[in-house]
This record gives sequence, structure tokens and C-alpha cells, in this order.
Amino acid sequence: MSNIAFIGLGNMGGPMAANLIRKGHTVTGFDLSETALKVLESAGGQTAGSALDAAKSADVIISMLPSGKHVAELYSEDFISTLKPNTLLIDSSTIDAVTARSVATLAILKGCKMIDAPVSGGTGGAQAGTLTFIVGGKQEDYEKARPILKCMGQNIFHAGESGAGQVAKICNNMLLAIHMIGTSEAINLGVKHGLDPKILSEIMQKSSGKNWSLEVYNPYPGVMENAPASRAYSGGFAVDLMAKDLGLAAEAGLETKTSTPLGNTALNLYRIWSETGHGKTDFSSILQFLNGKGNIEN
Ligand code: NAD
Repeated sequence: MSNIAFIGLGNMGGPMAANLIRKGHTVTGFDLSETALKVLESAGGQTAGSALDAAKSADVIISMLPSGKHVAELYSEDFISTLKPNTLLIDSSTIDAVTARSVATLAILKGCKMIDAPVSGGTGGAQAGTLTFIVGGKQEDYEKARPILKCMGQNIFHAGESGAGQVAKICNNMLLAIHMIGTSEAINLGVKHGLDPKILSEIMQKSSGKNWSLEVYNPYPGVMENAPASRAYSGGFAVDLMAKDLGLAAEAGLETKTSTPLGNTALNLYRIWSETGHGKTDFSSILQFLNGKGNIEN
């Protein structure tokens, strides 16, 4: 069993840390939020007064932070130089591949090991321990991290060298945004023509329009009891986080001169939806943007 430092105990990090504790690991956590620290304590974890205090005697450090800026600030030269040699660093935040590669290069230079390991599966997957981890880094570091990632997830993929996990993750989320918008457009059109959204969804699930947004995350209120749409688009994956991931995809497109016209349209739609005050709602609320309802109704 490992001595693990967990930095960033929010909607995703909190339940991921709790799963590590449940599997017998010793977890010392740090977060800027007092509430997040209390939740970790109640799950059986220890808390520290700073990221460095949590990390200095750890064998493994896992970070689950909002963006690349936070990750680069955490893994500073001073911070990494204080860690035990061979400490395994696992960054599971969704960030740009350039930052992921630069912190990994620094970590390796200072005698640590580092992988990027962003996740898919949302807060439900974090709680249930069924996340998908998409790893970028050396094969041997991936092998070393695998048993730890297995405590929090079901599917663990090695996408390639450092940064590859982040690239695969943003490709997936760009596709997710596109099919969520497409699904919302189709249901909205059907409803405007008097169709029952539940029946229309059932028809499309058994037809060629079938996709994940339709099957497990239906954006129309009341169609799926457990989907965020049926609880006024609360919980789930925030519009602001989706806009962030689409921004990362757009940047990745620019870097390699790759056209992503639908991804860019999705980015614009999510940005407008965020700017009109819906940034904290679940990303499936884009249906309400398409049907012209600024106010979210259930
Ligand atoms: P969140 O905002 O709920 O949690 C982030 C946590 O980091 C907060 O508790 C915050 O206080 C803490 N934090 C910020 N700066 C810190 C610092 N310097 N030191 C310590 N703690 C700090 O976000 P989340 O939903 O848990 O997402 C975290 C990451 O996971 C993001 O990169 C996101 O894109 C990714 N992600 C989220 C989901 C989802 O469904 N929410 C799904 C997949 C991936």
C-alpha cells in the first residue's frame, strides 16, 4: 500500500481520494477549501496545511486541479526538488499537452517519475470508482501507476508519450460536446413538432443517431431520471469546464494547423452560454440555449 498525497479535492478529487482510502492506501490531502479538507477527514484521510506538507514524504502524488496554470504552479522547481527521489507524480487534471510535457520534463530531470492521466466518466464515475484513465508517459511509469489508478477507475489506457493522455482526452471531449449539441438540436426540433422527447429519444437510440449523450445523459428534462437535465442541470460536468476543454482542443488545432470546424462552433456556443450566466450548470443545459430558454426550467 502506498503513501499518497492528493492535491485538489473538489468534485472529482474528493471521491477519487475516498476510493484510494477505501482500498487501503494512506492518503494525505491538501485543498484551498476547508470544506473539501473536512470531507477528506470524514472519509478517513489525513490533511496537511500545504501541498508541500502533504507531498514531502509521499511515494505518490496525485493532482486533480482546475487548469494548466494551477498544475504548473504546483509542480514548481522548488516543490519538485523537495520530494523523495523516484516519487511518482500523477496529474489527472485536464490541461494542455504543452504544460503536461513541461512539468513532466522538469520532474524527470529532478529524479521523479511523472505521467499525465486525465479522466473521463464524470463525478458519477469518480464516486463509483469506474473512471477511464488516459495516460501519457513512459511505459514503465504507466505500469507503476496502473494498480493505483485501478483503485479509482475501470479502464486504464496508455495513449503514448508524455502529453498524449491530454491530447486523447481533449479529442474525446470535443466529440462529446459536438454530439451533445447535435442530440439537443434533434430533440428540440422533434419537440417543436409535437413529438414526445422520451419517445423520440427511444427511436433515435435504436436508430443511426444513437450516441452516449442520448443513451446515458439525455439533455431533455424528465426523459432520464438520473441525468442532470432532470435536476435543473445541477451537478455533472459544468459548462465552464466544457468550454475550457474546447478551448484546449482549439489551441491544439492551431498548433498543428488542423481544422476543427465543429469543435470551434461548439466552443463558441458554450462560451456564449457561459457568458449569459450558465457557466456553472451542467453542459447538457445547451439544449435550453437552443430552444431559446435563458431561464432553466425542469
Ligand atoms: P473542482 O473545481 O470541483 O475541484 C478543483 C479543486 O481544486 C477545488 O476544490 C479547489 O479548491 C482546488 N484547488 C484549486 N487550486 C488549488 C491549489 N493551488 N492547491 C490545492 N487545491 C487547489 O473541479 P473538478 O470538477 O474536480 O475538476 C478537476 C479537474 O478534473 C479539472 O481539470 C476538470 O477539467 C477535470 N474533469 C472534471 C470532470 C467533471 O465531471 N467534473 C470530469 C473529467 C475531468
